[in-house]
Amino acid sequence: MSDLFKNYIDGKWLAGASAKTFENRNPANRDDLIGLFPASAAADVNAAVAAAKRAFPNWRLVPAPKRGELIYRVGELLRKHKEDIARSMTREMGKILKETRGDVQEGIDTAFYVAGEGRRLFGETTPAELPNKFAMSVRTPIGVCALITPWNFPMAIPTWKMFPALLCGNTVVLKPAEDTPHTAVRLVEILQEAGVPPGVVNLVHGRGEEVGATLVRHCDVQLVSFTGSAAVGREIASACGQHLKRVSLELGGKNGQIVMEDADLELAVEGALWGAFGTTGQRCTATSRLIVHHEVTKQVTDMLVERAEKIKIGDGLDENVEMGPLINQAAREKVLKYIDIGSREGARLLMGGSVYAAGSCANGYFFQPTIFDQVTPSMRIAQEEIFGPVLSVIKIKNFEEAIEVLNGTAYGLSSSIYTRDVGRAFRAMRDIEAGITYVNGPTIGAEVHLPFGGVKDTGNGHREAGTTVYDIFTEWKSIYVDYSGKLQKAQIDNAE
Ligand code: NAD
Repeated sequence: MSDLFKNYIDGKWLAGASAKTFENRNPANRDDLIGLFPASAAADVNAAVAAAKRAFPNWRLVPAPKRGELIYRVGELLRKHKEDIARSMTREMGKILKETRGDVQEGIDTAFYVAGEGRRLFGETTPAELPNKFAMSVRTPIGVCALITPWNFPMAIPTWKMFPALLCGNTVVLKPAEDTPHTAVRLVEILQEAGVPPGVVNLVHGRGEEVGATLVRHCDVQLVSFTGSAAVGREIASACGQHLKRVSLELGGKNGQIVMEDADLELAVEGALWGAFGTTGQRCTATSRLIVHHEVTKQVTDMLVERAEKIKIGDGLDENVEMGPLINQAAREKVLKYIDIGSREGARLLMGGSVYAAGSCANGYFFQPTIFDQVTPSMRIAQEEIFGPVLSVIKIKNFEEAIEVLNGTAYGLSSSIYTRDVGRAFRAMRDIEAGITYVNGPTIGAEVHLPFGGVKDTGNGHREAGTTVYDIFTEWKSIYVDYSGKLQKAQIDNAE
């Protein structure tokens, strides 16, 4: 008998309106069934949104420092259960324990950072242009927020959205990815234990095209915060456009790391390996292009291949393993398709390129670390998001070409340059078109107190994390108090 999980609506764990369920299996071992989850329908979405709507009037009036204290308790509980949650996350989505621990830590960091904001959430007080008049701006909550999240950071991403949304006085409905519903259950259990009032947080499992699409179009959902693929992001943005809803989008990437001839090559190679093969290349910030100065290309690729061949592949629950499986069969087919595309485009496959099925890995979705060289910037493998352990090496003549190549994709999330030349480093910081730039660090590893997001097709101009996230989850209200006792007309009574 497998575990049967439920939705969380109005403070209660409830079965889906229909009896339909979907399976959640361990990508490292398909025989390992984690459980069955409700394949929810419109009725479940409606119930969750109605609960969130009912809870909103009271929650918005809870003082922000008190809302912050609740989130602080959530942070403490996440810390207490960190190891256990990390283990269940590795079992659910495959990345190695070191990384799932980091994923939970990101949730903890976000909780503590957001909790403090409960005593800030600053607006501005300003002078007024007329006598005996007071002016200020304050942030106000928006209402019911739909949070739609991907599977690759199943704890960090829901917490990046949920904690600031709640701190600001909104209520939420979370729709997690079909591949990671269990981590969402763990998170909501912790919110419940911390004492979140009924209806303030709701969780509805199910397919994106059904549950996600219904949520996005629901007339009582005022805001949609989405992280996922650009294709789905476009669809959500157009639906939100029709309904004039606020929508924040965090989408894909085709991140590049530049290696100049003056770089510390040991450091650059170490960074590229971590950026390209960490999380099996399934990060929005993964390094998928290595843009290398021609004088050091041979040396860098030799070093890369020598080290990538030693990466230990296997079940992420084994502490010695360095790279886990891909998330599912569709992901593996997509990676295989791009290996074929790259080879046919004329890139040279230096290593990898195949399914990895040694020993017990035959039962999971494993793939070899893969490196192509002789890649040109316009090839599809240098332009499109593969979302797997595939690194494309592009040779460049000089710094100017490196920047041009790095900027030459539709995306603009993360970027990196390895150089010892401070002038080049500063020019790169200025000229790279991306939301994140690292100098002498890989493209991955963002910290929660800085804005997170990208330019061009990576999003629609919002930034999560940092203090910028509050611009997603609040409306600004300008308030004027006239205590002059007479009608005073701005721009008119005080005109020259
Ligand atoms: P996805 O777009 O397939 O799914 C994301 C979520 O959207 C899931 O919960 C899914 O069920 C839901 N969904 C799917 N179709 C929907 C629809 N029509 N309406 C409403 N919801 C729908 O993405 P994924 O495969 O889960 O995640 C991988 C993608 O996410 C990659 O492109 C990656 O770059 C991106 N990502 C971006 C960031 C970022 O912050 N920029 C972070 C992590 C992942």
